[in-house]
Amino acid sequence: MKKCSFCKSNTEDAGQVVVTPDKNACICAECIRLCIHAIDVDSSSDIEIKKISKKSKSKSSKKIKPCLLPHQIVDKLNEFIIGQDEAKKILSVAVYNHYKRLQNIEENGELEIEKSNILMLGPTGCGKTLLAKTLAKILDVPFAIADATSLTEAGYVGDDVENILMYLIQNADYDVEKAQKGIIYIDEIDKIVKKTTGTSITRDVSGEGVQQALLKIIEGTVANVSPNSSRKNPQDRMIKIDTSNILFICGGAFVNLDKTIESRLDKSSIGFNKPKMDSKNTENKSFYEIAKQVNTQDLINYGLIPEFVSRLPITIVLHELDESAIVKILTETKNSITKQYIKLFAMDNVELKFENESIVAIAKKTIEQKTGARGLRSIIEKTLLDFMYTIPQNNEIKEIMIDAKKV
Ligand code: ADP
Repeated sequence: MKKCSFCKSNTEDAGQVVVTPDKNACICAECIRLCIHAIDVDSSSDIEIKKISKKSKSKSSKKIKPCLLPHQIVDKLNEFIIGQDEAKKILSVAVYNHYKRLQNIEENGELEIEKSNILMLGPTGCGKTLLAKTLAKILDVPFAIADATSLTEAGYVGDDVENILMYLIQNADYDVEKAQKGIIYIDEIDKIVKKTTGTSITRDVSGEGVQQALLKIIEGTVANVSPNSSRKNPQDRMIKIDTSNILFICGGAFVNLDKTIESRLDKSSIGFNKPKMDSKNTENKSFYEIAKQVNTQDLINYGLIPEFVSRLPITIVLHELDESAIVKILTETKNSITKQYIKLFAMDNVELKFENESIVAIAKKTIEQKTGARGLRSIIEKTLLDFMYTIPQNNEIKEIMIDAKKV
């Protein structure tokens, strides 16, 4: 049996190969793809196949690894993410089912199971990206984050939607097969809502146009992506990627979605004998409580096109973080921000301590700023700036205690 002269994998496993005329050497399709990419990226120097090689080839993802059970996924998520229990539960089941679906395809199951992409709604800094990122880490699959606001319809200034797939391929070390089972998180999906509800003479290239362009790749298609993630060039060699097994998670803050829901609830409670809906008491209700009642029509009214909404059948609503959740985020998570700064100070031989009141003060300040846990780092950074400036030049300081006043 012949081996690819570059990566040494058996030609039987490697699929199509190109053989030299004297039949002494051959190269597999995967190495050809890597070489093409390497030349595209750097055509000025010689390239060693080792340097661009696919680390993952040996542990290639040809076979689907058995997935963790939903409760195991939740246990793992709990190590990094505070609260959001319902979101964790729904995500774990969705991912578990996604894996079963992949297994079914592998076993040539006669019944085709359709995939269920996910839509996450929740205020900024409540853990949407963190959930998606942690999930990818736990499952050991390639993961890419894209920002919907930078996308535009093909042919206009901005990123083409296919570039999202290129980020995923890059994160999978150019192992396209592995990338095809990855997870893509598209953030700020609420920023690509239709700009106008009426007819407009200008094309909505960054709103509805992007939703239209995303439809296909989210549902599943074979897309051609350019390795030069910039604009497509007819001379570029394209990488083909099948998106039907990529799990798409879309997230957004959906500011004022609660108002849209309220107005629906209001309308439905007008008329005789109609029950007064929850809208009566919405004034004091949080975004979470109202958004939990979201339905397809609300999302369409908000500006998502119906075809797009129907491709995201699972909706998860995340809580705003309250003081106790933020305190836990600050102190209890595996990679908590206070632990990170304690470590930073320890590297200068200084013991950094936070009084409990200081932690509560930081949490209160973050809630005031309405930035969720996202604002924690900047508050701590400001609090500690003077210390971080003086400590390296002062060997006498051995311990620093942060109290509420300093915050
Ligand atoms: P968004 O909901 O806007 O996507 P992120 O997931 O990016 O928010 O959160 C920003 C940062 O805040 C995270 O990197 C993490 O450090 C922290 N964070 C937010 N929510 C949580 C949470 N529920 N548990 C732990 N950390 C969190």
